[in-house]
Amino acid sequence: MVTVVNNLNRDAARPRHPEKANRPETPVLRKPDWIRVRAPGTPGWAETAKIVRANGLVTVCEEASCPNIGECWQKKHATFMIMGDTCTRACSFCNVRTGMPGPLDQQEPARVAEAVVKLGLEHVVVTSVDRDDLADGGAEHFARTIRAIRAASPKTTIEILTPDFLRKDGALEVVVAARPDVFNHNLECVPALYLTVRPGARYFHSLRLLQRVKELDPAIFTKSGIMVGLGEERNEVLQLMDDLRSAEVDFMTIGQYLQPTRRHHEVKAFVTPDEFKSYETIAYAKGFLMVSSSPLTRSSHHAGEDFARLRAAREAKLGRAIQPALA
Ligand code: SF4
Repeated sequence: MVTVVNNLNRDAARPRHPEKANRPETPVLRKPDWIRVRAPGTPGWAETAKIVRANGLVTVCEEASCPNIGECWQKKHATFMIMGDTCTRACSFCNVRTGMPGPLDQQEPARVAEAVVKLGLEHVVVTSVDRDDLADGGAEHFARTIRAIRAASPKTTIEILTPDFLRKDGALEVVVAARPDVFNHNLECVPALYLTVRPGARYFHSLRLLQRVKELDPAIFTKSGIMVGLGEERNEVLQLMDDLRSAEVDFMTIGQYLQPTRRHHEVKAFVTPDEFKSYETIAYAKGFLMVSSSPLTRSSHHAGEDFARLRAAREAKLGRAIQPALA
């Protein structure tokens, strides 16, 4: 198991998670044998890092200490995190720095687009910190970033992973109007755990947001994910799948939660590969077009390949629907 070092810790003097200072410490458990990742440091990884730095960008790969960084960056797949490196929420699972962010960088959309071109990305994932301090939650910045990527690299498909824009009326509509190919918003965990894991969010608001994307533009693929091992019951996960299908979500991801530090939410269980496979089988049976369920599944892991499969699955489904009508 490789420990991913966060080398973007630009301001070491500022506590990374001030709100967690008084939380009890829980030991970070040793990872089971089935969680093995590729070490960073390969030539492809170095090239990706160089382009990210040269364009002054932040990535969730580094900020969230993603275990897949060695594999993804070797293939030049980096997920950009826009609107700064500081989040206004304080979820108990997340390693992204928390606090009061600075003003938006108006040049950032252009620099993201430039990096997409330099990396030669056929599919890009753009996410952000939560910006509850902004009147629109950062919706226009998301839209500007989508438009900048489209202008610079028209063939690149664009996936966004957004915050919930809670209490920001009209924000979602601004982002949807920019027409990303995939709109991802993660539920993160089962509703019973929201108050401890995701206290600033509301489960039904997040569900409704996903449903609303489909209502506004049915051509956009919708996607959502959860972490398991946080203390959820299996039946709660199955219910959540039904909730996502009720909101017509196309693609579900399920991955193992890993505890970033002793003051983050503790890992309650390491879910076995067989249990992940079982979740995948059930999720497909419930009607998702695509499911990714494995210990190292993350929202943006293999996102390009998954997008191609997602598109093929929709075409196959539409084909099946048209055939009987023609018969
Ligand atoms: S899975 Fe996503 S966040 Fe993790 S390294 Fe890959 S692209 Fe980055």
